[in-house]
Amino acid sequence: AKAQGRGEIQPYSRALRTENSRRLTLESHLRRALAQGELFVHYQPKLCLRSGLLSGFEALVRWRHPEYGVIPPDEFIPIAEETGLIVPISDWVMRTAVAQLAGWRDEGLALAPVAVNLSARQFLQSDVIATVAELLQTTSLPPELLELELTESVSMADPERSVVVMEGLGKLGVILSIDDFGTGYSSFAYLKRLPLDKLKIDKSFVQDMGHSAESLAIVQAIVAMAHRLQLAVIAEGGETAEQVAALRKADCDQLQGYFYSKPLSPEDCAAFIRENMAR
Ligand code: C2E
Ligand code: CA
Ligand code: CA
Ligand code: CA
Repeated sequence: AKAQGRGEIQPYSRALRTENSRRLTLESHLRRALAQGELFVHYQPKLCLRSGLLSGFEALVRWRHPEYGVIPPDEFIPIAEETGLIVPISDWVMRTAVAQLAGWRDEGLALAPVAVNLSARQFLQSDVIATVAELLQTTSLPPELLELELTESVSMADPERSVVVMEGLGKLGVILSIDDFGTGYSSFAYLKRLPLDKLKIDKSFVQDMGHSAESLAIVQAIVAMAHRLQLAVIAEGGETAEQVAALRKADCDQLQGYFYSKPLSPEDCAAFIRENMAR
């Protein structure tokens, strides 16, 4: 190993200490954030690549910290996962998203499915089937308006239980998607076993398509395979007209990306629905 000078070690350990203390602070503050109403949800529109119409939303949680301002989920979801706070947080996001759908319905807006991210703990440890069933019953929303996005790593953490939980959710009639598809370690075997409806191609492939023949080939192959398996396919992270054209050419069904829209507040979503959806 190369010897390192003191000057190189010092700033690093100081940065690490700062990083650790920020993390500890966030962890203790996160415990209160839910109770104090600091979490909120934005919704990112999804586009139907064939009709050009709005075809759904993804619910994405944010945290408005009283001192630090808005903290993105990439920074606090991992802390929430480690501490177990992810279970009440995910539960709240799901309830909020379903209540939002019911609110839009009550305003007379055309409805499109809203997708919620399922965390591993929520999926494997909590009674997510009962929660979803209860939410659908109390709001009397059609189950196909709720979509659940699940990463490959979540389903691979406990494949046996995953099959059971997915089947339970599938029976309720909600839409089941594999998120970040292509980035996990999973085998293709589970595509055969799980009652899936949709694959979501990770943005790393979508954003590389323009300069990587391999990424373009992977995107085209995922779409073709998904369709052969009777699954719909959505691309995440499309930002440019070129990417959208390539996705259309590959026969991809939906797009979620900045090209179409960034995540929006519920109020902006209502306006977006009025402008972009056929009734
Ligand atoms: P994800 O589930 O893969 O969500 C998609 C992320 O990609 C979102 O980031 C979205 O804003 C971003 N994105 C969409 N289109 C584009 C684009 O064209 N360009 C770029 N650069 N980014 C785009 P966000 O909202 O920061 O969320 C990050 C991650 O945090 C999510 O990745 C998800 O893993 C996690 N997350 C967010 N909300 C929740 C939640 O309610 N529960 C759980 N368990 N995880 C969540
Ligand atoms: Ca997602
Ligand atoms: Ca299904
Ligand atoms: Ca992703």
